[in-house]
Amino acid sequence: MIRSRLSIAVPSLVVWLSLTGSAQRAQFSPDEMKQWLGYIASDALQGRQMLTEGLGLAGAYVADHLKSWGVVPAGDAGTYFQTVPIYGMRTRSNSSVAVTVNGETRVFKDGEGVTFPRNQGGKQTISGDVEFVGYGLRLAELNHDDYAQRNAKGKVALFIGRGVRGMTAAQNRLINGRARDAVESHHAVGTISPVVMNAGRGRGAGPAAPVNAAQRTDFQTSRNLDLPIPPQLTASDAFFEFVFAGTGYAYSTLRDLAAKQEPLPDIALRDVRITITVDADYERVQTRFTRNVVGLVRGTDGRLRDTYVAIGAHLDHVGYQQFAPTGAGGGAFAACTGQSRPTPRPGDTINNGADDDGSGIVSLMAVAKAFATGQKPKRSVLFVWHSGEEEGLFGSRFMADHPVVPVDRMVAMLNVDMVGRNRCDDPAQANTVYVVGSERISTELHNLNEAANASLSRPLTLDYEYNDVADPESIYTRSDHYSYASKGVPVIFFTTGLHRDYHYVTDEVDRIEFAKMARIADLIHATALRAGNVERPPARDFAGPRVGKGRTGPIR
Ligand SMILES: [Zn+2]
Repeated sequence: MIRSRLSIAVPSLVVWLSLTGSAQRAQFSPDEMKQWLGYIASDALQGRQMLTEGLGLAGAYVADHLKSWGVVPAGDAGTYFQTVPIYGMRTRSNSSVAVTVNGETRVFKDGEGVTFPRNQGGKQTISGDVEFVGYGLRLAELNHDDYAQRNAKGKVALFIGRGVRGMTAAQNRLINGRARDAVESHHAVGTISPVVMNAGRGRGAGPAAPVNAAQRTDFQTSRNLDLPIPPQLTASDAFFEFVFAGTGYAYSTLRDLAAKQEPLPDIALRDVRITITVDADYERVQTRFTRNVVGLVRGTDGRLRDTYVAIGAHLDHVGYQQFAPTGAGGGAFAACTGQSRPTPRPGDTINNGADDDGSGIVSLMAVAKAFATGQKPKRSVLFVWHSGEEEGLFGSRFMADHPVVPVDRMVAMLNVDMVGRNRCDDPAQANTVYVVGSERISTELHNLNEAANASLSRPLTLDYEYNDVADPESIYTRSDHYSYASKGVPVIFFTTGLHRDYHYVTDEVDRIEFAKMARIADLIHATALRAGNVERPPARDFAGPRVGKGRTGPIR
């Protein structure tokens, strides 16, 4: 019943690698990785959903291999497992927003005109000016930039609408990313937008639906909740009518313009002051446990071995399909223009996650084997197979908050998520791996990765399109490296990109490009070896994103 792609013949060649110094580096075998993935992505593992037997089997499989290669256990009590608690929380919110317009103040309580996320972080009060940023969107292709004339820095950003005319289905993702973009890229201290239907499930922001209705939890987390986070609120028409009351514009007029996707006027909210009071108490009503798999290869240098290169992939995936797909696939797949979901095998209900992130799981195994049984760097190498990535980065958040080695001694974190395919099955991508976030914290790490790639006998094409700040997929925030980056650790995220089998029952082993995957494992090994050997760790200059679509290569 197979569809647009035939299964590929896997060449039994071994990828032999270039030299670093005089010692020959390890070799990566596509056949061996195929054998491992045959188990990791088999139906027996149930799609490796968090809190299922299948995930436990996957963890045991990885741990058994680590043991056989002599990788040192780095988990709890001398094991390869780090226990990660998943807390089901209930929120009691006394949060509110006070708005002063021309000397008149009104207070909107959470649930009465404004809505705070259920996880709204620790208690805090934010007072400040308000910046109306229109649609809150930047779309280079459409020549649209709501931030061109507006400065949200240090202010509460207000945006409205559901997007501008001409946006593609793929760009619709940007709609849900507006609050995060306002905070992270434009340094707003908080955001307020009208109540809208969510176009998709975001991470971190917005009220999440109760995961377990029987337990009536408001949200799940593996973190402590006392840290303040920038408030991202939604508000009613009445709230917006009051905010715009002194401007000469009726909010209903703006709302109608936005509904028609017309240009919005520049409106200065000069006489508006806002005070956001975040005051929530949380009750732990449920605790469940999952596990990260962690191992260590000790460095050879007595002085440097207490510093670490961390390498990660996620062990978990999304499990069974809730509704068995029938007939001719599941409709269009927005990230690949013009492509639809493939037709699944009749009765197939298991998301095997061969690429997501079976490819990362076995690539990490190959790199761990290479370091454990071959040439070791001066620094130690920490390997983490994270749990709970798919449900909200639970495992990596917990590891970053409760690291098995000090997080400030991690000189770099390399994350591998979906490295077994060509983006949108385009054969022209056969040599391409996407690199995301490599220059944001450490320019030197970016250049080190570029140099490692250039040293390979067959360098890959490093593409930075997904790192573009305007990229609608916002991939930088969507996998485990983000948890480490949030702690200031220089990160590199490797991926071969999205395809129409993404999060679908057709993400199966026969679609994996094993020879390509082995070359990417080789690159990750080469980069980790360099990061593990450089005398001075890659400097953290936090210079931010500079490579992107059409901008590539080392940064001078
Ligand atoms: Zn993934």
